[in-house]
Parts: sequence; structure tokens; C-alpha cells
Amino acid sequence: MSLIEKINKLAEGKKNLRFMEVCGTHTVAIFRAGIRNILPPNVELVSGPGCPVCVTNDDFIDKAVAYSKIKNVTVATFGDMLKVPGSNSTLAEEAAAGADVKIIYSPLDCLKIAAENPARRVIFLAVGFETTAPTAAATILSARKAGLKNLFFLSAQKLVPPALKMLLADSEVKVDGFLLPGHVAVVTGTKIFEFLKIPAVVAGFEAEEILLAIINLLKQIDEGRTEISNEYKSVVKAEGNISAQNILAQVYETVDADWRGLGTIPKSGLRVRDEFSDFDIEKIMPLEIKSVKKNTACRCGEVLRGVCKPTECKLFGKACQPLHAIGPCMISVEGVCAAWYKYGTLKF
Ligand code: SF4
Repeated sequence: MSLIEKINKLAEGKKNLRFMEVCGTHTVAIFRAGIRNILPPNVELVSGPGCPVCVTNDDFIDKAVAYSKIKNVTVATFGDMLKVPGSNSTLAEEAAAGADVKIIYSPLDCLKIAAENPARRVIFLAVGFETTAPTAAATILSARKAGLKNLFFLSAQKLVPPALKMLLADSEVKVDGFLLPGHVAVVTGTKIFEFLKIPAVVAGFEAEEILLAIINLLKQIDEGRTEISNEYKSVVKAEGNISAQNILAQVYETVDADWRGLGTIPKSGLRVRDEFSDFDIEKIMPLEIKSVKKNTACRCGEVLRGVCKPTECKLFGKACQPLHAIGPCMISVEGVCAAWYKYGTLKF
């Protein structure tokens, strides 16, 4: 029996089921493989808050823009952040106006930039989840070892488990199971998700792995189980990557953090510990920023909670497209709206 036949058989006679893929990489993989199209009508996949750029609030962008305008400052960032709009500007606009904004592919690239430009303050925009945060932490440890005095971090790094806890407490969010993010689970392990108490599966990113994870969710529902299953055993262990967890704990402490669409989530952010405060640009060069909430019809906040589909936003595909995006969900390559737009010939 093929995987899709198994899914059809398990879904037969069941109520409508909604499974949330938490991770933006899963969203893209699901679209690429056409998985939404082959699922039975009563099994729906909804996307969650697993795109780090998308959940970054406007005020972080405003701070990054403000720092980029300061003399002898270089802002180093992943490319996705360039076009995300703040209250009045984007980093792309500031770069066009003369700011020094460099696109990097790893936080470790900042070590070289800082070493080669000793007269400049290099600020890395640390945006990401457990997947990338250990590399950012390792960059701080390397910078200290190398005696670099001109590398700083503006941090909006976030943790996934507290966001899932928040979603489950949200009466608007209807999910019957989670496809948990494989890359995050490599670092965190599976045990950390045991509080969920609904069916959940750590999934890989190949089409077959995602289908196996859906089968796993359906079987759990069929048998009345609520487990954290692991369908990505080749790289994910129950305890996770202890070395990466130790580096994170050495460099960062957990703090409450603001998420676009989800609000302030307790203990869901990472802040550089006091012992490393010489790398924290907000301690070294504090700025008073007054973000102005823009009055747009963008529904990113609801899209990120799986409460509305991108196509239910009246700007989707009209005023908001990848080349002139209104919200971050259309800008990031892992953004839900961008994925829906790019693979728009598929069934919605
Ligand atoms: Fe926001 Fe554009 Fe998505 Fe609408 S389509 S929710 S405006 S990013």
C-alpha cells in the first residue's frame, strides 16, 4: 500500500483534521512536493510561526535601521531581513541611501568582517530559532577568544516550544496535531515537546518523511494516543545536541520576547548574558526607538497562528507580492504567503 493510500485509509470516516507544520522549511517542502493536493479533503495542513524573519516585530527592524544610520557602523544580516518594513524604512532603503549593510550567510562571517574593519562597529542582526542560535553563540565565544572589540549583536532570537504552548492556549487556534520542526529538534531533542499533550511528530523534510509523519499523526488519533514521535531519527535524538545546548546556556539567558502575531511570550527569547554584555549593542549603544504601528490590512499575525490562510488576506497577490511585499510573510523565502504565492497554481 502506498503512503497516500495509507493516509486515505486512516483518514476515512474521521472528522476534519488540522495539522500545523510549525517550520517554514516544512511549508516550502510541502508545497514543492504538492502534498496539500494529494491529501484527503478532511486532512488540512496549516502553517505556523516557524519563519524567524516573519515573527520578528517591527521595533526590531526600526532599531536595526536606526543603527545602520550611525557613522562607522556596519550592519550584517541574512538577506531575508533587507526588505522587511519597519515603521518608516527598510535596511534595503538605508543601504541604497549609503548605509553599510552586508549580507552574510553565517554569523561566523561577522568575525572576518569585524577583523578586517577595526575602525567600524559591526552589528550582527541575530534573528532565528534554536537552529541557528548555537552558531551565533559560538561566534560570540570566538570573538572573545580573538579579542575582537568591534563586533556586537542585536538579538531577536527565539525559542519554539514556548510559542507552541502559547498557540495551544489560544482559543482561535484550532489544531489536532503538530508536525514539529526537524532542524530545531536536532538541537532541542524531542523530550522538550512532551508538554504538548496532543499528537506531534518530529518530521524530516523529504516528501516521504512528511507523509510518514502525517501517517503517524493519523495513527495516534486513530488509537487515541498523544505522543511526541520521532520520524527523523537519523539526526534527532530524544536529548538533542547537548554541546549546542551547553553553548546556548553559556552565552544566553531566556527572557520574555515579542513575536509578531503572538504577542509577548514568556521565556521565549534569548538575551546575551551579562558576562558577554560587551557584545550586546543595546548595552553598548542604547537607542530610544518609538515604533509607529502601521495601519495596513496585512494579516501576517493571523497567518502565523494558522487562523487565516494567506489567500484570505485581501492584499494577497494584489498589493502584496514578493517583488513589492507588504508584510514579512511575503518577503522571507520561508514565509507562508511567499510559499502560497510561488506555488499558487496548487489547490488552496
Ligand atoms: Fe501580509 Fe501580504 Fe501576507 Fe497579506 S499577503 S498577510 S499583506 S504578507
